Amino acid sequence: MMLGLLLARAGVDVVVLEKHADFLRDFRGDTIHPSTLDVMHELGLLESLLRLPHQQVRELKAQIGDVTVPIADFTHLPTRCGFIAFMPQWDLLDFLAREAARFPTFHLRMKTEVTGLLEEAGRVVGVQAVTPDGPIAVRADLVVAADGRSSIVREKAGLPVQEFGAPMDVLWFRLSRTGDAPQTLGRIDAGAIFIMLHRGEYWQCGYVIPKGTFEQIRAAGLPALRERVARLAPAVRDHVSELRDWDDVKLLTVRLDRVSTWYRPGLLCIGDAAHAMSPVGGVGINLAIQDAVAAGNILAAPLRERRVTVDDLRRVQRRREFPTRVTQRIQLLIQQQVIRSVLGATGPVSPPLLVRLLGKFPRLRRLPARLIGMGVRPEHVRTPIRA
Ligand SMILES: Cc1cc2nc3c(=O)[nH]c(=O)nc-3n(C[C@H](O)[C@H](O)[C@H](O)COP(=O)(O)OP(=O)(O)OC[C@H]3O[C@@H](n4cnc5c(N)ncnc54)[C@H](O)[C@@H]3O)c2cc1C
Repeated sequence: MMLGLLLARAGVDVVVLEKHADFLRDFRGDTIHPSTLDVMHELGLLESLLRLPHQQVRELKAQIGDVTVPIADFTHLPTRCGFIAFMPQWDLLDFLAREAARFPTFHLRMKTEVTGLLEEAGRVVGVQAVTPDGPIAVRADLVVAADGRSSIVREKAGLPVQEFGAPMDVLWFRLSRTGDAPQTLGRIDAGAIFIMLHRGEYWQCGYVIPKGTFEQIRAAGLPALRERVARLAPAVRDHVSELRDWDDVKLLTVRLDRVSTWYRPGLLCIGDAAHAMSPVGGVGINLAIQDAVAAGNILAAPLRERRVTVDDLRRVQRRREFPTRVTQRIQLLIQQQVIRSVLGATGPVSPPLLVRLLGKFPRLRRLPARLIGMGVRPEHVRTPIRA
């Protein structure tokens, strides 16, 4: 959606295909990072975006065992906004779609599911898709796969994927929110990690489980899950009965992977389709948006002049691969060093030395803030406006 907006704004004819009827679904994560907020400012959209309901989080804290520790302080970042905005992702996507629709070259087709590629002489020249009115073919000078971690486009393109593995999956459910927001978003305890995202009237809860144990948890029964959640998050203790059956609990699978080549003639992968991100640090949405901004900067002119080459696509990968590699390396390290041992722990859990140091030295908290809030190599909008 972001790349669609950027390209349409630069005068390129764009069609975005989305398989669902709306964006009102259980997306993974609600975070809009300071670097994304900078991008919105550069597009002249920051003020109207921030008029939508959201929460501003200036400091991240986690409760590890019985101790609450500050992790990241965003207030010193050299960005326009010293906070992460928490906003349901469907509100952000609807907002981007509305803004993009102001450009005559932007077209959004909902309920249009891409099922295959159109190829001619080894070059991708479009996609096949199914719609409620039957199958269609959409021809294009460039197909951008932004279809997420289970990308059908990258699969059909035969791009080899390197899997890095993840020790966890996430159970995703809603519980009513009453009273004040707790200051911590995350609770880490023996065998458990619990995240709560403020979504107005309810909490979007993420309960991290060891990979492949969902069936075991189901077999232990819903009362056991309710009891565990109530112990981990006293703020929702009175609402755990809202988990009435297993339909109320969704399993989100976590993956960490990367395609080695992000493109083929006529095709480019960005976001999770190029590199599925783990939830660690909550940075995947930002990376996907940064990919879109870089792709817009590099490709707008050649696309407008209908002369996009494989070299142009290679430049996008060169620009974005380094930040992706560094971020995935850090996620992998945290998965292996922290998450695996927390999920496997049976005794009391206490903050590791590094986290204790963050608690002692406030300036140190600027480093995780920078990694989470801005990421490596933040992008800036360089595409021109040409409606
Ligand atoms: C449990 C969990 C929690 C996470 N929490 C956070 C967080 O708090 N903050 C954060 O920044 N990141 C988080 N992430 C990572 C983040 O979700 C992803 O990195 C990010 O959403 C990637 O964006 P994307 O646009 O590439 O893909 P997606 O957000 O997956 O979007 C892909 C889109 O393509 C559509 N689509 C798919 N297939 C087709 C098709 N065949 N035809 C047409 N349309 C199609 C989908 O409907 C969807 O709209 C989390 C990940 C997990 C697993």
